[in-house]
Amino acid sequence: MDVLVEAHAINAYAYCPRRCYYEYVEGVFYHNVYTIHGKLLHEHVDRFGKEQRGERQLHRSLHLRSEKLGLSVRCDVIEEADGMIYPVEYKRGSQSGWENNHLQLCAQGMALEERIGKAVPFGYLFYYGSFRREKVALDEELREQTRQTIEAIRNLYGQEQPPAGIDDGHRCSKCSMVDYCLPQERGRLKGRVPWERFI
Ligand code: SF4
Repeated sequence: MDVLVEAHAINAYAYCPRRCYYEYVEGVFYHNVYTIHGKLLHEHVDRFGKEQRGERQLHRSLHLRSEKLGLSVRCDVIEEADGMIYPVEYKRGSQSGWENNHLQLCAQGMALEERIGKAVPFGYLFYYGSFRREKVALDEELREQTRQTIEAIRNLYGQEQPPAGIDDGHRCSKCSMVDYCLPQERGRLKGRVPWERFI
């Protein structure tokens, strides 16, 4: 297992494999309003340290490594309460149910499990937009999907060309790599010129 996959790459891959390739294989990343907003919101959780909040103990900005999964993980918060320990990942927006966030959280939970030798059956996604937490069960189906995504990312490192993009108007319009990826232009030129030779 040579390539150590970053948990955040799982999120990027589930959003669009092409985006993940740009960021983690080519090392190219551009910001847009959404990524900058997310970065600003994250500033306070990114500070390493411990905090007691009532019955809950919070450990901020912890790095974990899973030898089993070949995974490197940065957790926003690891929380301890009622004898349980679990990851809490902070996200901008208020919409829950995004698969990419669930996969990233699951990777954190599995890496934490390996570190502490104790089951981590759930985690939370905290959304700044609604100031609400979503409890996510780290069940076997989600774990299997997470493992498969890690494997798919590892395979990207052997590819000389980026994989096909999702070319989804809604997602592409929010993607910070849109001016690098040029999904509309690729769509227009498809079948007319050997586009892939120029990237
Ligand atoms: S612009 Fe669209 S196809 Fe290109 S990387 Fe972003 S999401 Fe993927």
